[in-house]
Amino acid sequence: LKDKYDVIIIGAGGAGMTAALEAKANGMNPVIFEKMPVAGGNTLKASSGMNASQTKFQKEQGIDDSNDSFYDETLKGGKGTNDTEMLRFFVDNSADAIDWLDSIGITLNNLTITGGMSEKRTHRPEDGSAVGQFLVNGLLKNVQEQGIPLFVNAKVTKINETDGKVNGVTIIFNETDEKNITSDAVVVTTGGFGSNMELITEVRPDLEGYVTTNQEGSTGDGIKMIEALGGTTVDMDQIQIHPTVQQEKSYLIGEAVRGEGAILISKEGKRFTNELNTRDKVTAAINALPEKSATLVFDSGVRSRVKAIEQYDKMGFVISADTIEALAEKLEVPADNLKATMDTWNSSVSKKEDAEFGRTTGMDNDLSGAPYYAIKIAPGIHYTMGGVKINTNTEVLNKNGEPITGLFAAGEVTGGLHGQNRIGGNSVAEIIIFGRQAGIKSAEFIKVAK
Ligand code: ADP
Repeated sequence: LKDKYDVIIIGAGGAGMTAALEAKANGMNPVIFEKMPVAGGNTLKASSGMNASQTKFQKEQGIDDSNDSFYDETLKGGKGTNDTEMLRFFVDNSADAIDWLDSIGITLNNLTITGGMSEKRTHRPEDGSAVGQFLVNGLLKNVQEQGIPLFVNAKVTKINETDGKVNGVTIIFNETDEKNITSDAVVVTTGGFGSNMELITEVRPDLEGYVTTNQEGSTGDGIKMIEALGGTTVDMDQIQIHPTVQQEKSYLIGEAVRGEGAILISKEGKRFTNELNTRDKVTAAINALPEKSATLVFDSGVRSRVKAIEQYDKMGFVISADTIEALAEKLEVPADNLKATMDTWNSSVSKKEDAEFGRTTGMDNDLSGAPYYAIKIAPGIHYTMGGVKINTNTEVLNKNGEPITGLFAAGEVTGGLHGQNRIGGNSVAEIIIFGRQAGIKSAEFIKVAK
């Protein structure tokens, strides 16, 4: 541990490690401080993949996508409230971010789709496994290879400044040793506040009692530290409820399960919504059922296309049966209804038309391959769309919209990009695109200042 670094990065999730790699590549000497005993943050739990448009992998696979439709669909998903400058920067730099990851050995070339998107633009690891673990392993390997120091059990409690210029942080190591470390710039990548029920119920009293999929370190520390320096926030009450969470273990069941073909049924054994509508709409449909919960049903094809299901099975979430009737019995839903639901769905898939709920995606394959599977789910707190306000240079802004000198932020700690509803696959894209930008822009700032 040194007394001074060029750039201090707070939080070793996807955004922090990406920022560190770019700061280093741009000639800086960065350090990462992580409060938990391990790196990874919520990024480790990311499942769907990384959205990007006009990528080389899409082209190779004959998918004719455009940045404009990625922009339009994200804006529609966010109910038109997204920060449009941030969004434009995001879509226009998405393909480049996929190439950058590929260039450092993190290849996301398996494509799927998430709710609210019209094209296959969710990039996953080749074997279809969850993106989070793969990404964190890859980033950590690069951080190590680049010799970037990463300290765990290192909780940053304060960002320090003199005369309005940020110049370091205060850290508590192993819950005991307090130290001040100085730097020319600070990058805040502390993630969201999905595990801070006090803060959540302060901004959204209606969310009392919900389970959360977030790791315990997602407590909004960065937001509080930045507010103390005069930084401003946006959309703090915009909290994403994910529709498909296994309740007993608060474990997220990834959207790829639906993207690859699964349907949702009620306790009547009937579909009740377009399963690939945006997360807010699917959540509302589940909450409108008397039981406020539902069951994902899929076949052996979905199971083989979504590697994460192996993990769900290991955790004991997956119910299986050789026939639909036997599955219905295990689920305690009327067998006739479930049989009729499956037959209707399979014929909708073959006609490519869902007359009941207007689903148009995740219909490449029907659900006719025995054995059959089910996972019981209900909504849970998943993501905090709001956070500190930054510009496209990732500079943290004060209440007058002016940058706070030397202070940068990226990832879930920031707000604005997603508006009122985040599209699945857009958070991983955000942490890579803006994490890179924070590394590059903090390095540029330091060079200019010197
Ligand atoms: P993102 O997706 O934006 O990268 P993550 O949740 O993946 O966000 O990562 C944020 C990381 O920051 C987590 O590992 C979290 O434990 C860490 N963190 C949060 N608050 C602090 C803090 N005060 N000091 C150091 N690390 C922190």
